[in-house]
Amino acid sequence: MKRLSERVIGISESETLAVAARVRKLRECGLDIVDLSLGEPDFPTPEYICEAAKQAIDSRLYFSYPPVAGYLDLRRAIASKFNTQNNINYTHEQIVVSNGAKQAIVNVLLALLDPGDEVIVFSPHWVSYESLIRITGATPVFVKANAESGFKVSKEQLGKAVSRRTKLILFSSPGNPTGAVYSRDELEGIAEVVRSNEGITVISDEIYEFIEYSGSHASIASLPGMADRTVTVNGFSKLHAMTGWRVGYMGAPQWIADAATRIQGQMTSANSSISQRAAYEAISGGPDRSLYMVEEYRRRRDLVYEHLCRLPGIKTGLPQGAFYFFPDIKDYFGTRCNEYVINDAQGLCDYLLNHSGVAVIPGDPFGDKNCIRIAYTRPERQLEDGLNRIKKSLALLQ
Ligand code: PMP
Ligand code: GLU
Repeated sequence: MKRLSERVIGISESETLAVAARVRKLRECGLDIVDLSLGEPDFPTPEYICEAAKQAIDSRLYFSYPPVAGYLDLRRAIASKFNTQNNINYTHEQIVVSNGAKQAIVNVLLALLDPGDEVIVFSPHWVSYESLIRITGATPVFVKANAESGFKVSKEQLGKAVSRRTKLILFSSPGNPTGAVYSRDELEGIAEVVRSNEGITVISDEIYEFIEYSGSHASIASLPGMADRTVTVNGFSKLHAMTGWRVGYMGAPQWIADAATRIQGQMTSANSSISQRAAYEAISGGPDRSLYMVEEYRRRRDLVYEHLCRLPGIKTGLPQGAFYFFPDIKDYFGTRCNEYVINDAQGLCDYLLNHSGVAVIPGDPFGDKNCIRIAYTRPERQLEDGLNRIKKSLALLQ
């Protein structure tokens, strides 16, 4: 008899990774797919970072288990980054290096949540937040922002969502999937609610920190009194194009960093030694050496925006960060083309994939049934090709 745990029955497959797997299969069958699904940099990891990993192997010094929370020099470099770039005074002892930002988030959720606890999640939200919260037995409480508010939750909305059971607030800024960036003033509004409710901690997911076009990114932990109330999560996947190296980290109040280290020590021991040496080089080099990629994302964003604005029935704003568009496509619900009937966002995504060979992701798992997510992590020529294909397929829907 196959008896899975209640825990795993309650969680879904990562929708982003599921679409990516589907694209891989279609390509194996020889189909020409323009993949605008996965939020993964298409650039190779910069050469100087790869070189550091090669040197680490050749030195033969990094073949043993690393310290659970990460190598001391890397944790010091991360603490110094927080200090100089984010104006947050975490010491190196408050830094835990993990297998991606994903594990950093899991560590905090496991450290703080019991069944019955609630986590307020600003929505639209990254797909994995919901399942990761459910794994702990806690309940996600989605506070929904709409396009009119720039997909940003107000302090009034947040205040209303807080209950006796609220233990955490979780959000990403710049945001996946909307690209929304909370200004310092908006973060101050959130901080006011946190300060007036003892026992609530914030997880601020800042993985897209430097993939930002408005210059207004700020860290909530840098606001008065908030460093003690905030876990700041970040990582190397996005800015440095290091998704496969699996390095993320948190800066946290000491009691949370200690608990996260305890959990990580039991679960994965530590992050890969060679990846940490590469990450050390990346963070020591600073963001500037990787910003050429952000410039390219900005050009792509502008290009995709121009195309989307010309498509009838598609409503979108101009995202301020990350590398996604999250347009409203509900005008197409109830339309059809031959055997394809579009009842919802999933129907539209299936149509686009099967009819025009373009992969995008339905908005439902991100918290908005009327939207789709388009990742512009592809070169301009491919984006043009994908958008032209979308345009042709949409024009056939009646
Ligand atoms: N947070 C957000 C908002 C993301 O989009 C992602 C996806 N990469 C992650 C965290 C996890 O990143 P990592 O590759 O560092 O695990
Ligand atoms: N975070 C990226 C995305 O949303 C990568 C895939 C994942 O980890 O979800 O597409």
